[in-house]
Amino acid sequence: MARENRDKPLAVVALGGNAILQPGQKGTAAEQLANVQATAKSIVELIKEGYDIVITHGNGPQVGAILLQNEEAASVVPPMPMDICGAETQGQIGYMIQQSLGNELVKAGIKRDVVTVVTQVVVSEEDPAFANPTKPVGPFYGEGEAKKLMAERGWVMKEDAGRGWRRVVPSPNPLKIKEKNTIVELVKNGTIVIASGGGGIPVLEKESGETVGVEAVIDKDLAGECLARDVEADILLILTDVNYVALNYGTPEQKSLTRVTLETMRRYQKEGHFKAGSMGPKVEALVRFVENGGERAIIASLASAPAALRGETGTEVVKAG
Ligand code: ADP
Ligand code: MG
Repeated sequence: MARENRDKPLAVVALGGNAILQPGQKGTAAEQLANVQATAKSIVELIKEGYDIVITHGNGPQVGAILLQNEEAASVVPPMPMDICGAETQGQIGYMIQQSLGNELVKAGIKRDVVTVVTQVVVSEEDPAFANPTKPVGPFYGEGEAKKLMAERGWVMKEDAGRGWRRVVPSPNPLKIKEKNTIVELVKNGTIVIASGGGGIPVLEKESGETVGVEAVIDKDLAGECLARDVEADILLILTDVNYVALNYGTPEQKSLTRVTLETMRRYQKEGHFKAGSMGPKVEALVRFVENGGERAIIASLASAPAALRGETGTEVVKAG
């Protein structure tokens, strides 16, 4: 089952926002840690079932908070660019997962290390996303302040559905994981790795291999697929707050999908069933993973992760019928 000479199948598990922060919560450290502790219990179940695991996760609310802290304190301490803010969230969320998962492993009597890899994800300078920033980040501003920020900092800002003005940044396609070799080595040693948090730190890479950070945000599910491909994972498991991908979502004709072939899923995508900011990139990640030779690609809810890997629930994209 496992690729190469691994003795266990390797699953890249992408955690959604609800794994770290629930809707309606303020985002206190205690709230986030409690959520991560619950998430860690689900991950340990997967480890008990015999999977090697690389974890990736979102960072929307956390990077939003850091950007706000930076802006509010800008007259006292210099604000950091987005790539550095992204790196901060990899550390903060990675730490919470490392500790919570480590503690659950101790309780389960499993001796495995858990480590976070600060991850750079290479994007292309020619990516069309750089000419068309679409991803809203950070706090809302009034029109006057927004115009000032655009002039002073060269930000692109857009009016967001009557809620105020917000900075938008490019969302380029992830091309490769800079720290891939290290992650592979860690997995070989039995370490549970947390990588590419928040979609990774977007960087441009010169021919020499030197990298430089860019002000952008990579979608965490597409980066998760890139990670899964680069470490030659057997499984890409995207865990979110719904158990199935649906057709006609949110309408009386809503229909849950269980097993879908690549070809059919491509057709559903073209028919517009999956929203750009939410389910769209998740479905695209599954499709890419299978197209790129991945064995299993599944979307399921966090709580039902073990059942999804057993094939009992969730939406799985398969190569052919
Ligand atoms: P995460 O934080 O886990 O990445 P998102 O909120 O980005 O999750 O995406 C999950 C959400 O996508 C679901 O809660 C659901 O409301 C929404 N969604 C949009 N289209 C669909 C669809 N076709 N099927 C299922 N859920 C959908
Ligand atoms: Mg969400």
